[in-house]
Amino acid sequence: MLSSKIRKGSCSLLSYLQRVRRMSENGEDARRANRKPRLICFDLDWTLWPFHVDTNPYPPMKMGKDGKIHDKHGDAYEPFPGTTEMFAGLLEQGYKMALVSRTEAPSVAREMLRLLDWNKYFPYQEIYAGRKTTHFAKIQKESEIPYKDMLFFDDEHRNVKDISAIGVTCVFVKEPMSQNLLQRGLDMFTAGKTDK
Ligand SMILES: [Mg+2]
Repeated sequence: MLSSKIRKGSCSLLSYLQRVRRMSENGEDARRANRKPRLICFDLDWTLWPFHVDTNPYPPMKMGKDGKIHDKHGDAYEPFPGTTEMFAGLLEQGYKMALVSRTEAPSVAREMLRLLDWNKYFPYQEIYAGRKTTHFAKIQKESEIPYKDMLFFDDEHRNVKDISAIGVTCVFVKEPMSQNLLQRGLDMFTAGKTDK
């Protein structure tokens, strides 16, 4: 009789503990599913536009009547299609964004950003030559956002390697930046996965 009471008692205790564990696991899943980056960072050359600003275009740059940016030779330079709309959408959703470029021609990059009217999307901009760990240290200090809450897109493996090592979720960009690629990055962030 007594032993059956103990058995019943342990049974209900066991099921109680199992229930608590299930609730905690469900809570953890929900937390993970809601995990979003507090800062989305983008490289410039060959991530947001298909050229290196330090090899071409040739400044001065100006906006042409065709709505494209032209260099001094009249050649047109444009970002990847849909990128402006993508930033507008992210801003509307409340995401903060940063630009992180190691170009040797920051003045040309800045001219592109001004002509594209992109500065309004990027309160954080670190654009100068050098290892990107320096750029990210400055952004971290200025924004007070921890590396683990950042998502970063870059087409160069050396940057992905450096920046994933400090705890930022990185996407190694091998195709034009797009809404699909952005979503892949957000999904990777939620799943706690990174390119290295
Ligand atoms: Mg690049």
